[in-house]
Amino acid sequence: MDKTKGMIFPGERIGIIGGGQLGRMMALSAKRMGYFVTVLDPDADSPCAQVADHKIVADYNDAAALGRLADICRVVTYEFENIDVKAVEALELNNYLVRPSSRLLKLKQNRLFEKETLKQMRIPVPEFRKVASEEDLDQAAESIGFPAVLKTTYGGYDGKGQGIVNDASEAYEFFKKLGSPLLIWEKKVPFVKELGIVAARNSGGEFTAYPVTENIHSFNILNKTIAPADIPKDVKFKAMRIARRVAEAFDLIGVFCVEFFLLENGNLLINEIAPRPHNSGHYTIEASLTSQFEQHIRAICGLPLGSAVLRSPAVMVNILGNNKGNNLKGLEKLLDLPGVSLHMYGKKNNGPRRKMGHFTVLENQAKTAIRVANSAAKMLRWD
Ligand code: AMP
Repeated sequence: MDKTKGMIFPGERIGIIGGGQLGRMMALSAKRMGYFVTVLDPDADSPCAQVADHKIVADYNDAAALGRLADICRVVTYEFENIDVKAVEALELNNYLVRPSSRLLKLKQNRLFEKETLKQMRIPVPEFRKVASEEDLDQAAESIGFPAVLKTTYGGYDGKGQGIVNDASEAYEFFKKLGSPLLIWEKKVPFVKELGIVAARNSGGEFTAYPVTENIHSFNILNKTIAPADIPKDVKFKAMRIARRVAEAFDLIGVFCVEFFLLENGNLLINEIAPRPHNSGHYTIEASLTSQFEQHIRAICGLPLGSAVLRSPAVMVNILGNNKGNNLKGLEKLLDLPGVSLHMYGKKNNGPRRKMGHFTVLENQAKTAIRVANSAAKMLRWD
């Protein structure tokens, strides 16, 4: 039997839909491994276009442009989920290789469908209810209660399209403000920690998971990831088992992330699944034997997965924008700290809470890494 059948080797071309920082870091790994990369993004100077071999400047949902991308690439992947599922399905119907497939993309684009599917799989999620009218709002308030998190079913990420409501008038106001769309009413979970697990599965069914991390959010955007999370072993195993079940149930090929809420009693509830490398896995670039980006390239190319073993505890801190100017001051102080690595994404416009870059701190102990990361974060300011 030819063991290399179906494998895509360096020298071939990989297509990436979406030119943000995830695409950029995927492309950098692919380039290091010897692949050619074409990116499709409406911005000709996107973070990924700056490092790819070739770009197609077009909208993510431009079916003809997606067809052109698939025509020249052996495999097409994506760095974010808000792309047209129908366009991806059309590529698959024409026998182009899209990894991960449209199956999980479809699940991902509709938060209600995502939660219902997980519930059917008996994977615990926060208590939720569909809201399509004011009557539904009343019923959800009655059955689930306050405080609640209301979320749009489509198009939300990094806390966009969601809000916390504490009483009926806030719920009505939020519903009306968003134009009365289809919403999910979710119980606001009293979590003790937010956790994440980045894992990978290749086309041969091989599966590997990185350590469970603690993810600290601020204003609904990831601020910091601590690897590994300080949690009991049984919680780690539970997270890993859930990640594996999700990957196998959806025949997922590629790197993905499952985000959890950890409850006081040790139970885990899934918050969401991201079918792509994830912000909470950026620490793997320096801290793991194989980075999540190389792992993604290996997985989508049908190659053996690399080891996900942690070389060192690590903390990753996002560098978020604000509108105080485009110059990041204090980098010389940050880089003077031992064990710090800097990644800037090449974004020209510094917008409020825009992900402009990140840094990772490696230390012998996670608690030291946290201390260094906290003081390092204070060294940076936009001017
Ligand atoms: P999401 O966009 O759904 O990932 O939500 C972003 C962040 O909002 C999460 O990481 C949590 O910090 C918070 N959040 C979302 N849903 C809930 C919930 N049901 N209960 C408590 N916090 C939540």
